[in-house]
Amino acid sequence: MDFSSKLLENAVDEMSQLPGIGKRTALRLVLHLLKQPEEQTIRLTKALEKLKSDIKLCSNCHNISDHIICDICASPKRDRSLICVVEDIRDVMAIENTSQYKGLYHVLGGKISPMEGVGPQDLTITSLIAKVKKGNVNELIFALSSTMEGDTTNFYIYKRLSGLDIRTSTIARGISVGDELEYADEVTLGRSILNRIPFEGSLKAN
Ligand SMILES: [Zn+2]
Repeated sequence: MDFSSKLLENAVDEMSQLPGIGKRTALRLVLHLLKQPEEQTIRLTKALEKLKSDIKLCSNCHNISDHIICDICASPKRDRSLICVVEDIRDVMAIENTSQYKGLYHVLGGKISPMEGVGPQDLTITSLIAKVKKGNVNELIFALSSTMEGDTTNFYIYKRLSGLDIRTSTIARGISVGDELEYADEVTLGRSILNRIPFEGSLKAN
């Protein structure tokens, strides 16, 4: 792409670093921004700056939050004996949308994936085990997507929990294999949580 302006080229280069944004789309977005009133671009850059500087990870569940303890963990209405293990904030949002779950979450920050170089040490598994060892948790619900990486991660955590007094369950697989949790419709996902099955049972079924 030949640019008549270095400033334009720089902006397009930066924009095209975003996932799913090629050079052509980046150019379209940058030209769109150029046409907008200056205040709008300032609002956008300020919002992004503030996001990076002020965002926190909840010290209890590792979910993205504006506070040290997120609203879910801070709520007295949530059942603290129940923890739903998810990959990232999109899963928390999907499950919250079902209004069927009143426990807490634990956000792993990814799945074990040797192909992508993600090992157990890159996830928040140690903090999850420590939480369980404190003894106030009755049940862990595995709600990772049913991919090979999701299954590997569930099984790794399950093994690490052996000998601890804790019930483990997994959401019923009404969701087809390979589907990301975030794309399941609310009714199906809500039902999957209510009809969750013991994790050991799910192992035998495979
Ligand atoms: Zn939290």
